[in-house]
Amino acid sequence: LASRDFQPNDTIIDIKGVKIGGDNLVIMGGPCAVESAEQMDEIAAIVKAAGGQVLRGGAFKPRTGPYSFQGVGVEGLEMMAEAGRKHGLLTITEVMTPEYVDVIAEHADILQIGTRNMQNFDLLRKLGEIDTPVLLKRGFSATYDELLNAAEYILAGGNPNVMLCERGIRTFETYTRNTLDLTAIPVLQQLSHLPVISDPSHGTGRRELVETMSKASVAAGANGLIVEMHTDPDNSMTGDGVQSLFPDQFTSLLQDIEKLAPLL
Ligand code: PEP
Ligand code: MN
Repeated sequence: LASRDFQPNDTIIDIKGVKIGGDNLVIMGGPCAVESAEQMDEIAAIVKAAGGQVLRGGAFKPRTGPYSFQGVGVEGLEMMAEAGRKHGLLTITEVMTPEYVDVIAEHADILQIGTRNMQNFDLLRKLGEIDTPVLLKRGFSATYDELLNAAEYILAGGNPNVMLCERGIRTFETYTRNTLDLTAIPVLQQLSHLPVISDPSHGTGRRELVETMSKASVAAGANGLIVEMHTDPDNSMTGDGVQSLFPDQFTSLLQDIEKLAPLL
């Protein structure tokens, strides 16, 4: 079902009038983690003013170690939903377990499946039973075929609203957190009709590379970007402050992309 042979035309996911896929470029921005209602309100205002369409933020965080901040949980979903409503933005947040799919789907417009859960098949099957759009991140060691097979689980269950996300893979390089695989963008679009979103924040792990790799992703044909941005990245509650843009960087990035997109 994910294959271009099966469906030649691009899938376009329409969420409350925001179209994702085809010639549209969607911008998702916000902090790694939801921290407070004030933070989400402030960041949503910046995303909206800059021209973004979707507010990101994790209420449930898949942390590498068990003693790190795990997210604020269900309360965070409400904080994010409220900020999205107030500022006219869609919202995206991560879901890690099948049990939480329904409650998170009540609060968010898009469900994010993190890199560590790309092959959590019980979770994928559960996502197939609803129709809320899903952003499926590529596992950091997954091949294109494995990513497409993971998407297939959701599609086969009956949910056609799947976006693929390249968020960097593990390579021998240690300077960057991951290696953003730009080639994945055109390859996935050739193999599949599903929209492909690029995450240059996790893909590089370094703020100073996010702007360039965002532009490179758009040039490579990405259908959208998901970018971390924080008002005080050095004091963010996850380690991802180092890859989060400052608000003025986020705003100028979107201005540059607006100029770039029509040239492509
Ligand atoms: C995130 O988006 O903050 C995140 C945890 O992403 P990933 O699953 O790609 O590491
Ligand atoms: Mn993050």
